[in-house]
Amino acid sequence: MKTRIIQVDEKNIDKEVIREAGGIIRSGGLVAFPTETVYGLGGDALNPASSRKIYEAKGRPSDNPLIVHIARWEALAAIVKRVPEEAVKLARDYWPGPLTMILEKSDLVPKETTGGLDTVAVRMPSHKTALDFIEAAGGYVAAPSANRSGRPSPTVARYVIQDLNGRIEMILDGGDVELGLESTIVDLTAQMPTILRPGYVTRQMLEQTLGGVEEDVTILRADSGQAPKAPGMKYRHYAPKGELTIITGPERKVVDYINIQLDQWRAGNKKTGVIATDATMGAYRADVCKNAGSRLDESAMARQLYRILREFDDEGVEIIYSESFEGSGVGQAVMNRLLKAAGHRVTELK
Ligand code: AMP
Ligand code: MG
Repeated sequence: MKTRIIQVDEKNIDKEVIREAGGIIRSGGLVAFPTETVYGLGGDALNPASSRKIYEAKGRPSDNPLIVHIARWEALAAIVKRVPEEAVKLARDYWPGPLTMILEKSDLVPKETTGGLDTVAVRMPSHKTALDFIEAAGGYVAAPSANRSGRPSPTVARYVIQDLNGRIEMILDGGDVELGLESTIVDLTAQMPTILRPGYVTRQMLEQTLGGVEEDVTILRADSGQAPKAPGMKYRHYAPKGELTIITGPERKVVDYINIQLDQWRAGNKKTGVIATDATMGAYRADVCKNAGSRLDESAMARQLYRILREFDDEGVEIIYSESFEGSGVGQAVMNRLLKAAGHRVTELK
């Protein structure tokens, strides 16, 4: 299949291009498009054949449900059994934006889209191109991140092209995304609203809107012995091709320890990389050192992470060490993705 790649500008949207992209979705095809979080791989959420195509193009296991993207609040009612009070409040505060809600699905949504579940994940993105595209596509676009399964989510069109060129009808290239991490997922079908995946909308923000909020125990721990409630979270995710290890502990010790490991790998002719911060950038003896930014700016770190992981691949880095990024708000989301990318390979220094 020949994939058409078309540049789009959020500030000056080409209606003809959007109409064409929407038409592809309506006739059962696939289009990758920019959102404020990461690029999405879109298909008609109400067409089971489209959802099957998404799984195939991504190489994604079909029990890993898709997020349905809508462009208007009024579109929600048709795809869910009921709209709970919590959903109204969350939408008021965070839609359009990087928040996904899990609700009970109506019969309109095929099980192919929800990975066989009776619940559906719904999000209203804030990216203008995304909103116009969803409308043009009929109002319901199922879209996982636009990467091959297991790879870091794409934050620029170049990486969508790398993973999906020849597998889908069209890629809308909207340049760099704004946030760089996938949406927060909150389950509203449980007793208590439960965070299944951390993101930009933090626990504190959700608590402000809802009062009590729980967190799935599997978010930051590999050893909880429980299956994650978001089926997708059980798969190895966001992984670079090189072997990534996270080192936690006092900064000085972390730097020294990583340098000793680097010397050994480099003596064995392995290409090495490090994810450092402003404070430690000059301190490592790695072949490739990437700066995640200032520890004080967790949003900037979130924006860099996937690009950094992809760049290690581009540069053929085989062994990667990363400092650890625990944080309160968005930092928690960064750490969650980093842990998954590392397959929970962590060395703790005391
Ligand atoms: P992605 O589309 O790559 O951002 O992944 C979507 C995430 O949403 C995956 O981790 C899914 O498991 C999760 N998800 C989607 N639908 C549901 C649902 N109905 N219940 C729980 N998790 C869901
Ligand atoms: Mg994904």
